[in-house]
Amino acid sequence: MASTWERVTLSAMCGNCGKLLSQDEPVLIKTLPGLKRPLRRCEACEGPAPPDLPRPIVLHDRTSRMTSAKPLAIRALSQWKPRNIP
Ligand SMILES: [Zn+2]
Repeated sequence: MASTWERVTLSAMCGNCGKLLSQDEPVLIKTLPGLKRPLRRCEACEGPAPPDLPRPIVLHDRTSRMTSAKPLAIRALSQWKPRNIP
């Protein structure tokens, strides 16, 4: 039986206690031979999760795109303003 700790990407439910796990929470994924879907266990049931559990990369991409777009908008606004002041 293989079991790995992962971070919840969207939402998941613990198969043992029924706790609803929100995004970024650690979840233990257990893959059993003969079972199509892996089992999910929350930190309270099978924890603690390792502290060095990596965060999902998808979230970093999203924030870096947002921060790079913001300074451009501010610069465009500051260039536009002086021309309209008499
Ligand atoms: Zn649980």
